[in-house]
Amino acid sequence: MEATGSTKQFRCANVGYSECEWHLEGNSEAEMLPQIEDHALKVHHLELKDQAVEHIRNAIRDVA
Ligand SMILES: [Zn+2]
Repeated sequence: MEATGSTKQFRCANVGYSECEWHLEGNSEAEMLPQIEDHALKVHHLELKDQAVEHIRNAIRDVA
């Protein structure tokens, strides 16, 4: 199930929106993805398809 204890971070700039400073920290991808989808839709008017979700998962990094 979900990993605990590590913090993950997503930066919008890491998926191509270099001018977007939005970023998010969370404990799991499952927790973060809905918020990322929400941001993508509201700010970038982008509806995330499977391929984009995969791209986002790859951009989520563990932070110390
Ligand atoms: Zn953004």
